[in-house]
Amino acid sequence: MNSLTDRFNRPLHDLRISVTDRCNFRCVYCMPKEIFGANYPFLQRDEVLTFEEIERVARTFARGGVRKLRITGGEPLVRRNIEELVERLAAIPEIEDIAMTTNGSMLSPAKARALKDAGLNRITVSLDSLDDDVFKSMNDVNFPVARVLEAIDNAVAVGLEPVKIDTVVKRGLNDHTLIQLASHFRHTGVIPRFIEYMDVGSTNGWRMEDVVPAREIIDAISGEWAIAPAEPNYYGEVANRYKYLDGGGEFGLIASVTQPFCGTCTRARLSADGQLYTCLFGTHGTDFRALLRGGATDDVLYELLSGAWSKRADRYSELRSENTIYLRKVEMSRIGG
Ligand code: SAM
Ligand code: SF4
Ligand code: SF4
Repeated sequence: MNSLTDRFNRPLHDLRISVTDRCNFRCVYCMPKEIFGANYPFLQRDEVLTFEEIERVARTFARGGVRKLRITGGEPLVRRNIEELVERLAAIPEIEDIAMTTNGSMLSPAKARALKDAGLNRITVSLDSLDDDVFKSMNDVNFPVARVLEAIDNAVAVGLEPVKIDTVVKRGLNDHTLIQLASHFRHTGVIPRFIEYMDVGSTNGWRMEDVVPAREIIDAISGEWAIAPAEPNYYGEVANRYKYLDGGGEFGLIASVTQPFCGTCTRARLSADGQLYTCLFGTHGTDFRALLRGGATDDVLYELLSGAWSKRADRYSELRSENTIYLRKVEMSRIGG
């Protein structure tokens, strides 16, 4: 069946599902401690979609063209028995690929095994630096690098591959440690991806000066090793891929700020409370939860989706300016990366 298309003829292909807005880290670029403290109005349990409800939404999206799902958060592994959700999603016939993005803090060998057995195909572990002091200053909860490296090993051991590493680069914080990180993962099959720090949400105090342009990172890496650009794996891939010419593997750059890729953006995002966002920088969602809980039929859910996607004209990163930075955008911890 054909995918729904939006106002710029972009097909609906991927759905990112945030399963919680809570997290055990306080990454400075995502959930700064001063704001996400004891009094922060996190969603209450009954506001968050159940696994049954998420499955119904995912089936609706599969009917609209979605083939790839990514489970995210907040931290998806703080949601108890998340493998049960994976199992439900893996049973949807149209779905070809299920991935997860996690900070790795709770990815024990048993959890990795349970996720794999439930049908998870791949995992991305976020890790901003291999330098313990730098990493701790970024996660802001004193979490050590060694335990994230164990999580990566646990994922590799059960075959949740290729394991990718998401590294957000913020100037003056971790940019001096990127070569160390790239070097560590050469010849391992694990693929680091360096992400330009973005102005998601409205609480992280983003400034353009804090962004390290992807070009600068490529130049630094090519100063160490011979590299060459590689072809995208598929239409709409967000990372620009590079290969080491000595066979050391590959790495990627996600240059959402300096080289926006809205033109091929096929991703929808579902927040933990059941709102559809058609852009990472959205200010308003489309409320699926109200319909789900109001007894809507599958056709009614589908109408809501097709209406929202056909109206979609988002291209925030292409339009980013001094004026857009201060919009009240949805927080990253609510809709995932
Ligand atoms: N907690 C999980 C994790 O950290 O992997 C999943 C959710 S997290 C919001 C998803 C991804 O978004 C992470 O790789 C994180 O580093 C990235 N991210 C968060 N805030 C960001 C920002 N301001 N700019 C760029 N990437 C960001
Ligand atoms: Fe938590 Fe992930 Fe945000 Fe860090 S990036 S605070 S781990 S949700
Ligand atoms: Fe897609 Fe919005 Fe990001 Fe552009 S800014 S690539 S439309 S999520």
